[in-house]
Amino acid sequence: MIYNSVQQKIANKIEEESRISNWKDWKWQLKHSIKSLDKFEELTGIRFDEKERENLHKTFDKFPLSITPYYLSLISKENFRNDPVFKQAFGGIEELITLKSELEDPLSEDSDSPVEGITHRYPDRVLFHVSNICSMYCRHCTRKRKVGDIDFVPSKAQLKKGIEYIANTPHVRDVLLSGGDPFMLPDSMIDWLLSEISAIPHVEIIRIGTRMPVVLPYRITDKLVNILKKYQPLWINTHFNHPNEITASAKEALAKLADGGFPLGNQSVLLADVNDCPRIMKSLLHKLVQNRVRPYYLYQCDLSEGLSHFRTPIGKGIEIMESLIGHTSGFARPTYVIDAPGGGGKIPVMPNYIISWSTNKVVLRNYEGVITTYKEPDSYEQKMCDRDCDNCNLELNVKEIDESDAIGIERLLSDSNDSISLVPEDNERHLRREDEIVE
Ligand SMILES: *Cc1c(COP(=O)(O)O)cnc(C)c1O
Repeated sequence: MIYNSVQQKIANKIEEESRISNWKDWKWQLKHSIKSLDKFEELTGIRFDEKERENLHKTFDKFPLSITPYYLSLISKENFRNDPVFKQAFGGIEELITLKSELEDPLSEDSDSPVEGITHRYPDRVLFHVSNICSMYCRHCTRKRKVGDIDFVPSKAQLKKGIEYIANTPHVRDVLLSGGDPFMLPDSMIDWLLSEISAIPHVEIIRIGTRMPVVLPYRITDKLVNILKKYQPLWINTHFNHPNEITASAKEALAKLADGGFPLGNQSVLLADVNDCPRIMKSLLHKLVQNRVRPYYLYQCDLSEGLSHFRTPIGKGIEIMESLIGHTSGFARPTYVIDAPGGGGKIPVMPNYIISWSTNKVVLRNYEGVITTYKEPDSYEQKMCDRDCDNCNLELNVKEIDESDAIGIERLLSDSNDSISLVPEDNERHLRREDEIVE
């Protein structure tokens, strides 16, 4: 059902004789987003006692509340304290706890920002924050520090700085629009922004990260899809965390996007008491692939301030991956990643499958616990690659190859580079050696 009795009741409390056309109008939804405790109580019929109200006010002063009427309608009133939507949308005093290990900007996005709005961390792609607002404020937001800063939609002049940076940085081939939620921008602005970015010759693909299919699925209008269609190849990633979020309205939004021809991905966050259960996770992943969404990442919850109650040990994530690999379709399982504090980027983590190794045999285990061996070739003649692709000595017959230099561990493995180690900048032993040279 698209418009159920709970939704009807909420709609009528917001506006007498509210119509379904209002409910499904995303601007109406935004206009009536729930931003206060009183409004929340009025619309849901849930009541908190005085002490808890006081604590909630303190919480919302620091981390503001904003829930769309649609997302609110998914909360089960009877059992709200255990409700996964309630936990993601509505805060509590535990958000005011800040641990020593927590950071305001754990991913150092601000330090890796060459111009306002851009985070440039990886060699060939950038993150472009094109809006700092969202239709629903996730309580587990990694960018909590920015939420509720005066909401603003950046002007074209501000966005132009980011566009210029991309245009002037030829190795950027992939631009990831994020925010906030890029779909909070008006259609005309999205059209303009995509036309500017896609006109840059070295940009091969654009990606959009949005939570709209989850929290405000009516934002995915035919008009929006028709605008997006002009800018293929366009990849869209969304953020479902729990199977309860995959409603009839959400399915309709996903179908519009999939029919529009956009490859769809999903990034979930592993959250304590929300989805830290192999069965819930599997149910979510199966529902996603049924709706043509490919699970992309499962994130370990970041070390942002006020998220300690959401965090699980990494072992929980590994346990979940163990329950998925081999047990369900390969394309139904995400890559579990830890976004390294300090800006190191995403680090994939998995259970171990290699048990032992000799010069010609590898001992492996499978998902059932069966131990098996893989016999390696008796002779494998190593051909040295000199990275001169124009005159490929391996005669691999390659065209249009990326000839940038190897970095990091790839460089250590490369034949054509004589680096033998990577040394931390402040390694004392090496600093002493430099001193010796100076003397
Ligand atoms: C996640 C992220 C990307 C994209 O990474 P992929 O692994 O390619 O999805 C790019 N830039 C930043 C800063 C990111 O955090």
